[in-house]
Amino acid sequence: MMTGMAEHYLVFLELRNGAIAKSSLDVWNRFQKFSSGRDSRVSAFAAGHAAEGAFDCLQGNGTVYHTDGTHFRTGCDSVVCAMIETLSGAERVTGIAFASTAMGRRLAAFLAGRLRAAFFSGCGGSGGVEKVCSRFIHSGTVIASYAAAADMTIFLQGRELPQPEFSSAEKPAIEAFDATPYVVGGIHSLLVHAVSQSCQKRDVAEASVVVAGGRGMGTREAFGMLEELAALLDGSVGASRAAVDEGWRPHSYQIGQTGKRIAPDLYIACGISGALQHLAGIRSARTVVAVNSDPDAPIFGAADYGIVGEVREVIPDLIGILRDVMAKK
Ligand SMILES: Cc1cc2nc3c(=O)[nH]c(=O)nc-3n(C[C@H](O)[C@H](O)[C@H](O)COP(=O)(O)OP(=O)(O)OC[C@H]3O[C@@H](n4cnc5c(N)ncnc54)[C@H](O)[C@@H]3O)c2cc1C
Repeated sequence: MMTGMAEHYLVFLELRNGAIAKSSLDVWNRFQKFSSGRDSRVSAFAAGHAAEGAFDCLQGNGTVYHTDGTHFRTGCDSVVCAMIETLSGAERVTGIAFASTAMGRRLAAFLAGRLRAAFFSGCGGSGGVEKVCSRFIHSGTVIASYAAAADMTIFLQGRELPQPEFSSAEKPAIEAFDATPYVVGGIHSLLVHAVSQSCQKRDVAEASVVVAGGRGMGTREAFGMLEELAALLDGSVGASRAAVDEGWRPHSYQIGQTGKRIAPDLYIACGISGALQHLAGIRSARTVVAVNSDPDAPIFGAADYGIVGEVREVIPDLIGILRDVMAKK
């Protein structure tokens, strides 16, 4: 392991519809917070279309390297990885951080292999960016600590980590990154066709309010109530694995160990038993409300508020009450 080398972190900023993804912004803030007052700095790399003012939300020091071009708009992983690799070498980067999105997971794994880097996935602890990191394993029943034994570390950070609170009067510099040397004639993308399965306004992993349904919803159609409740709360709909296995919602909605880790301010679980593998995905939810007809359902052990009752009665009541409250505002 190299010693005495100043830490320099590079955060990959994922651009969606011209804006920085909330999950990438969290990673940037987490690294900025960790770096302030230390002998370390933070830069960022973004590839793709950025709307005017897209980087205005970034606070802190450092430089954001940005490159645009039609070949990035369909997500050419190998080209993006090659650019990050070059930039990391030129800027003497010691750690590269990604949000744990589908793209982040692909790039992080690819680069960890290319750079022979230590790979910290979902690690928390002291800011989650040190050479020694800890994370929950076995559905949250065990905390494991890992030490990096390489000069370069790749961080893959999900929303299971505490929300970073960071503010600074400083603004990073935005610098254009020349992609020309990386665009090999004719190769535009490895991703031939992108299909969006979810018609939700906001991905369940990024929503502040999540209303999720399990097998207790009974039918695919019953999820309509959840859509209605989520829309009233400006939230997104999620599902347990049982509901996904039934085909009531696509896998992109699944919350849990083999689904998405969520960190909403409010999580409403409807007809979900609260299996360990499901709870692994809601550990960072601030307030949990459970609706279940079985008073002994384990979900009540993880809930701040519990309603024992039939989803078909309780959820329409909740919707009615909410509408009344909103109408009076
Ligand atoms: C390796 C592995 C990974 C897994 N990963 C995940 C994961 O990522 N996410 C996940 O969710 N699960 C995961 N599971 C599955 C998990 O173990 C459970 O089987 C699953 O979470 C159960 O889903 P459920 O709570 O919707 O269904 P059930 O366990 O069948 O529970 C349904 C609940 O609905 C209640 N109910 C029934 N009817 C009504 C009604 N009319 N009104 C109100 N309540 C009602 C019942 O009392 C019950 O509590 C995983 C399992 C394994 C082995």
